[in-house]
Order: sequence, then structure tokens, then C-alpha cells
Amino acid sequence: MLTDYHLHLRPDDPGTDAETYFSAANVERYRAVAEERGIAELGCAEHVYRFAAALDVWRHPLWRETAVDDIDAYAGFVREQTGLKLGIEADFVVGREDQMATLLQARDWDFVVGSVHFVGEHAVDHEGYEVYDYRSQRPDALWRRYFETLGEAARSGLFDILAHPDLVKFWGPRRRPVPEGDLRRFYDLAMEGIAESQIAVEVSTAGLRKPVGELYPSPAFLEMCLDAGCPVALSSDAHVPGDVGRDYEAALEMLERLGVGELAVFERRERRREAIG
Ligand SMILES: [Zn+2]
Ligand SMILES: [Zn+2]
Repeated sequence: MLTDYHLHLRPDDPGTDAETYFSAANVERYRAVAEERGIAELGCAEHVYRFAAALDVWRHPLWRETAVDDIDAYAGFVREQTGLKLGIEADFVVGREDQMATLLQARDWDFVVGSVHFVGEHAVDHEGYEVYDYRSQRPDALWRRYFETLGEAARSGLFDILAHPDLVKFWGPRRRPVPEGDLRRFYDLAMEGIAESQIAVEVSTAGLRKPVGELYPSPAFLEMCLDAGCPVALSSDAHVPGDVGRDYEAALEMLERLGVGELAVFERRERRREAIG
């Protein structure tokens, strides 16, 4: 059985209001594409920072701009009108773990997708909140901090799925410098937390649509997670219906090559493994 657990019902752009996108007709468009592509199990995972409740966790400028919607209205809509699994994409914000736990525990999710988009106040995948001046600094320090934070995110126990695990490569080597040599010395910094938590590791086709043009994570990263015994969650991170299950051939080819025959499936934050088939 194929899954797509990391769906957004709308683009991240301004003007994408809940009234327009949280509708049965919109979800039907996602379902139609999923059916065409043979994906049986769908779940949505809206960004936590689109909801006003997120401001109790963090008051980053990006969040203050975007956190306007009612999180309980979203959860109610998904449960009552869509038949989708109910998820959320929650950022890992260092030092705000208790506040995020309070927000997450108050609702009845099927799964929580955990993301590291920020290193400190700066984003690794958002030009408006650029991480630092790449021209004057080497990328190694950023990559070290990113993967240390990723390991902490896994260890926090807040999340069921670790999203786009090597997102720090988002811009690709043509747009931003990348450390030289074997990157496993960076991945290793996250591995203790990942192994301890046994979190499901996301394989995401979204990276193929970004400047880097690669799956998240790299095969070497995934191999380390598999050696640690972690299951895989498969997703597209679609923000429009046409991206549901997009480029799954590439993801399935990597999974087969690494001997992965099962995917993690979630219900009310209980996990089981299902054969890909
Ligand atoms: Zn994300
Ligand atoms: Zn996402």
C-alpha cells in the first residue's frame, strides 16, 4: 500500500485562505490524483504556523505574518468532511518544546510530522529569512548545527515522522555552497537521536521539485536510518493536487535498492508497518 502523508491543502503563498482551500471540493481534487497514481492512504499535514495557536509556541516574524487560521476548525474539517488522515507539520523550535507539546497534545492527530526549517532564527529553505551570509562563511558550521538540531527533534518525542530529513541541501550546490567530501560526518550528528527515538523517517519527493533536484533524504542518510531500525514514511509534500504522489517512481526505486519493503502507517498516533506491495 502506498501512502502520501505529507499533503498541504494549499500553497504557502499569501492569500491562500482556509475558507477557499479547506473544502470538500478541493480535497476531491487531491483524491482524484491519488487514485490515478495508485495511492491508497492520504493524510494532510498543514503547517502549524498557519494557525493562530502557533503564536503561543513561537513569535518568529514569519509566523506572526502567517498564523491566522483556527487549528480546531482545520482538525474538525479534516475529520468530519474528508476521510483523510489528520496530521500536522510542526516545526521543532529549540527551547519551545513544552509549548509545542501543549499545542499538539490538545488535539487528536493521526500523526505529527516534525520539521527542522529553522536553525536559530534563520530558515534553511526560505530566502526571506536566509540562514546566514554564505559568501563569508563556510557551510560546514550550518550543516553541523542543522543535523544536531534534527537529532534533537527526533529525540524530543514530539513527532511521529521526521520530515524531509536533509532539507539543509534545499538550494543545491549551484545556489549555495555545500560541504566537501563524505556528508555522513554530518548525518552522524543526528543519528543517535534518530536511533533512540525510532521515529519514522520521511522519504519525500519534494526535493526533486526544489533547486537541489534530489529526493530527501540522500540514500546514504536513509541507509543509516535503516541500519538504526527506523521505518520509512513516504510522502510528496504536495501543496497542489498535481503534486500528490509526484515522482514516486524515483522514491520507490531508492527504497527497493535499499531493501525497504514496508511503509509506516498511522492511526491516532499508533504506528504499524504495511507492505508496499
Ligand atoms: Zn516542511
Ligand atoms: Zn510540508
